[in-house]
Amino acid sequence: MMKKRNVDLVCDIAELISLAEGGRDRRELLQKVVTSVAGHMQTDVCSIYIYDDEDHELTLRATQGLDHKAIGTVKLKLGEGITGRAVRELRPICVGTASQSDSYKFFPGIHEEDYEAFLAVPILRGLRRIGALVVQAGEANYFTPNDVKALRAIAAQLATMIENVQLLDEARMEAEATQAAVPKKVVPESLIRGRSASTGTARGRAFTLDSGTPDACLLPDPDGDGHTLEDFEQAVEQTAEQIDKLQRQTSEDLADVAVLIFSAHLLILEDDQFTGRIASLIREGMEAVKAIATVVNDYVEVFSKSKMPLIREKVLDVKDLGNRLTRNLLNEEAGAADYRGQIIIAHELLPSDILKLSAENVEGFIVSSGVTSHNAIISRSLGIPMVAISREQADSIPDDEELLMDAEQGIIYLRPGEEVYAKYRELDSAWKAMHNASDMKPETRTKCGARVQIYANINLLSDLKPAREFRAEGVGLYRSEFPFIVRNDFPTEEEQYVIYKKLVDQMEGRPVTFRTLDIGGDKMLSYYSNVNEANPFLGMRAIRFSLRNKDIFSQQLRAFLRAGAAADTRIMFPLVSSVDDFIAARDIVHECMSSLEAEGIDFNPETKLGVMMELPSAVEVVDELAAEADFLSIGSNDLIQYMLAVDRTNEMVSSLYLAHHPAILRAMNRIVSAGLTHGKDVSICGDLSADPRMLPFLLGIGLQKFSIDSVNAPTVQRLVNSIELSEAESIANTMLDFGRISEVEAFLKERQLVSETQA
Ligand code: PEP
Ligand code: MG
Repeated sequence: MMKKRNVDLVCDIAELISLAEGGRDRRELLQKVVTSVAGHMQTDVCSIYIYDDEDHELTLRATQGLDHKAIGTVKLKLGEGITGRAVRELRPICVGTASQSDSYKFFPGIHEEDYEAFLAVPILRGLRRIGALVVQAGEANYFTPNDVKALRAIAAQLATMIENVQLLDEARMEAEATQAAVPKKVVPESLIRGRSASTGTARGRAFTLDSGTPDACLLPDPDGDGHTLEDFEQAVEQTAEQIDKLQRQTSEDLADVAVLIFSAHLLILEDDQFTGRIASLIREGMEAVKAIATVVNDYVEVFSKSKMPLIREKVLDVKDLGNRLTRNLLNEEAGAADYRGQIIIAHELLPSDILKLSAENVEGFIVSSGVTSHNAIISRSLGIPMVAISREQADSIPDDEELLMDAEQGIIYLRPGEEVYAKYRELDSAWKAMHNASDMKPETRTKCGARVQIYANINLLSDLKPAREFRAEGVGLYRSEFPFIVRNDFPTEEEQYVIYKKLVDQMEGRPVTFRTLDIGGDKMLSYYSNVNEANPFLGMRAIRFSLRNKDIFSQQLRAFLRAGAAADTRIMFPLVSSVDDFIAARDIVHECMSSLEAEGIDFNPETKLGVMMELPSAVEVVDELAAEADFLSIGSNDLIQYMLAVDRTNEMVSSLYLAHHPAILRAMNRIVSAGLTHGKDVSICGDLSADPRMLPFLLGIGLQKFSIDSVNAPTVQRLVNSIELSEAESIANTMLDFGRISEVEAFLKERQLVSETQA
């Protein structure tokens, strides 16, 4: 008898499987596999069964040794016969004498009865059943444990191949089905529910921007435009003027973040490879609109495939340029080259895209890939509503569809009727009234007269205007990362100083809390690192980045210290996980102070240093942190994320992101108590600080300083005014006693009903 060659066999199968990637016929491939296995293992029979998930049935799909007529007709239920059992139990079954096995199932006419030895190995992907690989031999007890191992290895490889082929088949079927069903987009429902990322209301026409698709182009279908080379040249000139104006305007409005934000547009426009190539295509006889589309698409293709994130980020710029050139060429009405009256639907957006689109008057954003925290923050600062929905929902909105966004609730209306518009007008004025800061009092007090301070969160310098309008008592959180995120390189100490000084000056003596760089997590700097971290939220983020990059950290600290000369400023560190982190950061601040002193440069030697309480580990050592630091600030957005292990940007787990989880309530109570015990200032600067449902609790545990987005200031002041401190304390005590989420929820619900009846 020939020797079995199991190792060769595994290699051969790998080769066969690689063929499958070339799209060979599945039946032919399976047949090759069984022939090869039978040959190498010197068995009389080798067969493959494929499992149907819906019918819970295995069907013979290829065989060497049995009658070929059985292919497609022999079927086994899950658990039926030795093969069915192996698949049900997710394990190989080897039987020496099949005819004596209880499980053996005899099929007349396929000549199985001639074979005694039976080895069935399930083909699995994890726990998913894909099929079975079966070998049979006439000689009893023919198969050895080594054969079982070899067959398992082959089955594992087959699983990938069969699954891929199945996926390809499905994709093909889906493509055929979609082709048959023109138009491309599904007829939408009239209302889509998503999640609010930046509140407000907006109306406009849908415009899909998919920066990740290389072949997508924003341009309309060219169907005979008859434009000349001169027309194109004029469109180029007009586009350059528009962009130049836009850049100047943006630099004025958003000085901290908009430095040369449209420079890539201008560079590409001046590039002979771009404009010159379009011109030569027109000279060769191509219609101008088509020529623009052709070159834009080529650029998009090249840029989107680039290994460098900085280049990939330019995809949207090129598309925008193409869009502007076309619109100018077609002489669309003045101003049409921007995004006025349009709601952008995008799979992915960068903070710099948001800034640019905002400068181009976009009405709102609908994002389908989950909203990064920085994108939500920047949209809020720019006052642009943003709603997060799923990819399928986004795909169901046809371009140019009339939309109405109620980003307060996270609802998008499609083709809204007059009734919806009427509701929208009501909603819009209610929204404006609710957020109107003109009636706010300069001081905030509870009903019983206890003093509460409302500070502002500042993300962009443009946030200072609404902060001043509501007479914020200070800045409780300046998120310093935005000037870093939108630039192409780290801003110098001098550049940073100019920005921070503006912030301090405009607060006119009121305290300003600078937060050191918080990058990483869901926002990496494209110019810093292209290392892909598997778990960026647990990686090189915030203070870890700063401590690892001391030069960058020191430059920022020096700029903070200098900007704070003759002012009341504080510096706080994000994502501190231990007392040691805090001390390491504080040491660097002290080094910076010494060097500034040695250089004779003015700075604030009284700058207070604080810790952002965002991690469970920091809560465990909060006493020691409170003893060391000058102040604590609760970063509830991250505290919830890290305590509950719920990604704050992940739609799928958003229902688990619960500020009222008993663990969060108790952690916050511990933080405030530790601060009070050590006589240190404690504030809260996460989104929770403006949550009306949670405000009584926060007041009740002793918080008296709230740093919030300015838009929420009127609501927070009104609520504080309506609460007695003793009532807040009793609410907090009750809530702290609950051990279950459901108990807290029932309590909050009941209280809401009570306050509604009281109102
Ligand atoms: C927080 O985590 O609550 C916080 C204020 O910081 P950021 O939202 O910038 O992470
Ligand atoms: Mg945070």
